[in-house]
Amino acid sequence: MSDCIFCKIIAGDIPSDKVYEDDKILVFKDIAPKAPTHLLMIPKQHIPSLAEVNAEDADILGYMMTKVPQLAKDAGLSNGFRTIINTGDDGGQEVYHIHIHIVGGGGRLPFA
Ligand code: 5GP
Ligand code: ZN
Repeated sequence: MSDCIFCKIIAGDIPSDKVYEDDKILVFKDIAPKAPTHLLMIPKQHIPSLAEVNAEDADILGYMMTKVPQLAKDAGLSNGFRTIINTGDDGGQEVYHIHIHIVGGGGRLPFA
């Protein structure tokens, strides 16, 4: 998707503070963190939102979830964390490339 900001981050056209990358996903720091730790996990394939996933996306979505614990551990979130997927306009989604927020690190956590 040429006009997708997260696809541009994957392509390296927009810089990001990467914390993990493999052939399927990229994890980077949110540019406007809402908690001491605020990571975004995205699939390298462009899926617009959770409202538009289908059976073919089961493998990548499952893969993303299984990577969360180690990433949280590596980020020092030993006392817990929050995972958020905002979906659609009413869900507060700003970037239409599906992403999981991983937030934590103390203090009052944001809802989104
Ligand atoms: P959403 O509201 O779509 O669930 O969350 C989008 C998130 O992406 C927001 O928390 C916002 O701060 C973050 N974001 C938007 N543009 C950029 C960017 O260019 N780089 C990074 N690292 N984060 C971004
Ligand atoms: Zn995209």
